[in-house]
Amino acid sequence: MEIIILRQRMMSVAREIRREGNRTIGFVPTMGALHAGHLSLVQAARARCDVVVVSVFVNPAQFGPREDFASYPRDLTHDSALLDEFKVDYVFAPAVAEIYPKGFSTYVTVEGLSEGLEGAARPRHFRGVTTVVALLLNIVRPDFAFFGQKDAQQAIVIRQMVRDLAFDSEVVVLPTARAESGLALSSRNDYLDVEQRRAATVLYRGLSRAAAAYDEGERNARRLIEAVKSTIEKEPLARLDYVSINDAETLAKLDELGDRPALISMAVFIGKTRLIDNVVLGKAKRQDASGVGA
Ligand code: AMP
Repeated sequence: MEIIILRQRMMSVAREIRREGNRTIGFVPTMGALHAGHLSLVQAARARCDVVVVSVFVNPAQFGPREDFASYPRDLTHDSALLDEFKVDYVFAPAVAEIYPKGFSTYVTVEGLSEGLEGAARPRHFRGVTTVVALLLNIVRPDFAFFGQKDAQQAIVIRQMVRDLAFDSEVVVLPTARAESGLALSSRNDYLDVEQRRAATVLYRGLSRAAAAYDEGERNARRLIEAVKSTIEKEPLARLDYVSINDAETLAKLDELGDRPALISMAVFIGKTRLIDNVVLGKAKRQDASGVGA
C-alpha cells in the first residue's frame, strides 16, 4: 500500500493504471477516523475492483463556521494501518492546500436536491461536498465510487452531479453499518461519552418505530413523523433538529406515502454532537438492498 499526499502523484498513478487498460479502479472517499461503516465500503470496492483507492481528507469546505472542522477526529496512522489490513492499494491523504491551493475559486452546486434537509440545516455543506467529490473524481477517475446510505441525501446529490456533469464513474451506494445497539456508525460517535452513546440509540429506535407503524399500514407522513418525535422526546439527552419524510429519489416532501420508496431522515443533537440517520420505507423487496447499480 502506498500513501500519497500529492495530487500530481495521485493523478499520475491513476493515469498509469488506466493506460494499462485492464484494471478497474474503485474509489472510497472518506474524512478518516475510519470505522466499520467506511470499511464496508472498502470491502465492497476490494471485492469489485482491481485497484482500490481510499481518500482521507477532512474537507474544510463542507463544514460551517460554527461546526467541528477543527475538532474532527484525525488519525492517519491508525487509518492507514486499517486500510493496509483491508488490502487497499493507495491511500490519498492530501493536505488542505493540496486540494484548495491559493486562488481556488471554482465550486460545484447541485441545485434543488441539495437545498432541503441537511442542506437547509447546514448552508453550503453540499457545495463543499460536491466540490471536493468532483475534484477527487477528476484526480482518481475511478470506474466505481462507493458511498454510504448513512448520508442518504449526499448519495442522491452526488449521483445527480455525476449524471449532470458526465463523470465517467459509476456511483455505488451501500447500506448503513450499525452497532449492535442500532446506532449508525459515525466518526462523530467518538465525541460521545458512555451515557450519550446509550442515548444516541434513540435515533434508530425512533426510525424503527416509524418503520413498524409503516409495516402495520400507516401511510400518513405526519403520524409516522409523530412516532419518531415522541420517541426522541422521551430521551432527555436528545434534542431533535429535524425529522422529515421525502421521496427516496426526488426528495420531494411527502404528506401521504404511496408506491414509491420513502426516505425518513433525521438529525438529532446529543449534547453538542449532531448525529444523522435514516431508513427507507417501502423499498421493493426484489431491489438489491445495497442499491448497487441502482
Ligand atoms: P465520512 O468519512 O463521514 O465522510 O464518510 C465517508 C463515506 O462513508 C461516506 O460515503 C459515508 O456515507 C460512508 N459512511 C459513513 N458512515 C457509514 C455507515 N455507518 N455505514 C455505511 N457507510 C457509512
